[in-house]
Amino acid sequence: MSSPATIKKAKKLVDDGCVSQIEDDLFQIRSSSDPNKSYFVTSDTCECFGFKNYYKFHHGNGQKANCSVKSILDILP
Ligand SMILES: [Zn+2]
Repeated sequence: MSSPATIKKAKKLVDDGCVSQIEDDLFQIRSSSDPNKSYFVTSDTCECFGFKNYYKFHHGNGQKANCSVKSILDILP
């Protein structure tokens, strides 16, 4: 489950038009803080720092890696 703060942030990115669907399961998410930066994300993986480091930060909790970028997909209509 994503935290309410993460969901709020994700909704803002969607509202700001930072989320583009490329293919059925491929999205490009532009950074709100740096418009030149974007991440490609699918339902299984994401390019961002938070995702790559998820297991480092949360090792051993048995959960699938997630990140604030990927959680955006969860709130898309
Ligand atoms: Zn990510």
